[in-house]
Amino acid sequence: MPNGWWLTHGPSWPRLRGRRLQRMRAALFLQCPLCVLCLLKGITVPATIRDHIIPLAEGGVDDNSNCQAICQQCSDAKTRAESTRGQQRAAAKKPAIPTRPTTRVIPR
Ligand SMILES: [Zn+2]
Repeated sequence: MPNGWWLTHGPSWPRLRGRRLQRMRAALFLQCPLCVLCLLKGITVPATIRDHIIPLAEGGVDDNSNCQAICQQCSDAKTRAESTRGQQRAAAKKPAIPTRPTTRVIPR
């Protein structure tokens, strides 16, 4: 497959799985054994999660350029924020639900 094939032919970026994912996880934690988000706060916490900097649901790609090593706590916080954004996106797509009038119009 030529370089950039997925950019022009793929309907969406394929999510890594299996042994290839395990190899990439191992390489990432070898390179970044500590949570990068905690390091920014001056805290040293071992990284256990291979996180997508830009979530796949928001158009991020599943490769090393979009991955960072973070801890479980940072992953949970990030997931909550992503979930909120996802709900907001879903709500923005839905048509507004017409509300029933609260006052009753009595015909004369
Ligand atoms: Zn962290």
